[in-house]
Amino acid sequence: MRYVIAGNSVAAVAAIEAISRRDDKGEIYLISPEPRTAYCRPLITYRLAGQVPAERLPYRQEGFYRAKGVRILYKKALEGLEPEKGRVLLTGGEKLEYDRLLLAIGANPFMPPIEGLEGPGVYPFTTMDHLKAVESALEDWREVVVVGAGMIGMKTAEALHLRGIKVTVVELLDKVLPIVLDKASSLWARKELEKQGVTCILNDSVVAIERNGKGQVQGVTLKSGTRIPAQGIIMAVGVRPNVGPLAQSGLHINKGLVVDDCLETNVEHVYAAGDVVEAYDLILGAKRPIQLWPLAFRQGLIAGANMAGGRKRYVGGFPINSVGFFNFKVASAGLSTMEPGVEESFEVLSFVDEDRGIFRKVVLGNNRVMGFLLLNDISRAGIYSGLIWSRMDVSAFKEYLVKDMSMPEACKPTTFGLEPWSFESMKDHKRLSWALFPFSYRKQFTAMPSRIEEVCAFDTEVCTL
Ligand SMILES: Cc1cc2nc3c(=O)[nH]c(=O)nc-3n(C[C@H](O)[C@H](O)[C@H](O)COP(=O)(O)OP(=O)(O)OC[C@H]3O[C@@H](n4cnc5c(N)ncnc54)[C@H](O)[C@@H]3O)c2cc1C
Repeated sequence: MRYVIAGNSVAAVAAIEAISRRDDKGEIYLISPEPRTAYCRPLITYRLAGQVPAERLPYRQEGFYRAKGVRILYKKALEGLEPEKGRVLLTGGEKLEYDRLLLAIGANPFMPPIEGLEGPGVYPFTTMDHLKAVESALEDWREVVVVGAGMIGMKTAEALHLRGIKVTVVELLDKVLPIVLDKASSLWARKELEKQGVTCILNDSVVAIERNGKGQVQGVTLKSGTRIPAQGIIMAVGVRPNVGPLAQSGLHINKGLVVDDCLETNVEHVYAAGDVVEAYDLILGAKRPIQLWPLAFRQGLIAGANMAGGRKRYVGGFPINSVGFFNFKVASAGLSTMEPGVEESFEVLSFVDEDRGIFRKVVLGNNRVMGFLLLNDISRAGIYSGLIWSRMDVSAFKEYLVKDMSMPEACKPTTFGLEPWSFESMKDHKRLSWALFPFSYRKQFTAMPSRIEEVCAFDTEVCTL
């Protein structure tokens, strides 16, 4: 059996792990436009900041691929697919036949049409090549404009600030981290950023990038007319599933590649995983792209197992983040931006301790946790995430959820007439125990790493099929 995997990041690595566990005779080909082994994409901003050494970036070394017998086609990209002939088209007109194909080609940064965008000095920040390009441009930069105040924009802003650059963040919406923070917490975050010397301009957008006669960036003009001097621009206005090479393939494409519960596309034997797909969002109850490392890993593992003859289902995931910026920590999941009273069917519980800088918010829908937002004290993130997974009715202990009370005591499993360890053998309630045992959930729970190191260490060790 010949397995062809397009892409060489976390979803691809997980698929290799799963295939080789089930089929040690099959041949695996890997198509990798980037001339290096898989690396931890979430660490590139920390590398720019000088917070992690270069040795920490590789996710897998050559030895991993060698041990699994993987043949890597470096500097080749998938450029098309002929499913009726069972083959992919590669850079340079090469063709490669497959019995099973995995599309794990990720997402690309969105570059909005802005006057002056093309040319040196303007970079997205999602790959090792972007890291290298920005690293080498840094010595000519004193001021940088970061366009977009989402996760990647804010992490890059912090890294540049730590490198001694004057940073201005420009965001179209009225909040920093608009998908994660609500209005109150965004105000806090913004105050904190400005205390550090990072300027945030909200409700505005870049309409032109100004260049001098040599094409060098001189600054940007905003819709409001404000002009900001800068020598470098980071474009961080989101990523889009990389479906371009598949446009003529006959695959079903919506916002991302559409897959079934086994992560197979509408074309038999062609699977997809990671940032390129639209997979099931457990909270919305619909399929959509959710671009997160642990979800890409899990999808890769499931797709790989199914390519090698398994019949595993991807039950779904939900947006979940845990990150530290400047002096504050944020953890959030699901409907974290829901404002109190906006929708009658949702109940918002919150707790604020301004002196300690602590903010906790839990969003309930029909007495089930649908999302949360934590600032600074993120110790309950695992518990809340477990409650989202378990879809447990929390009405019996709702009052304890956000207050400063001991959660484990308040939520003892016996409160609900269940013996703690009997959960392990109860298929339907297995996840419940994760929610209720903060010390044991870490090993089993799939998506709440609390430090960046854990995001990338998220691995087969905790994720078994
Ligand atoms: C700066 C940054 C910070 C992040 N922080 C976090 C975080 O804190 N937590 C979190 O959960 N997630 C984070 N993410 C998101 C996470 O990195 C992604 O969800 C994850 O990398 C997706 O993995 P993937 O395997 O789907 O594809 P990607 O990692 O996007 O990799 C795509 C692969 O496909 C290859 N490829 C592209 N085009 C082709 C082609 N035509 N043919 C063949 N191969 C191709 C690429 O070279 C690459 O190997 C962050 C991402 C970035 C950029």
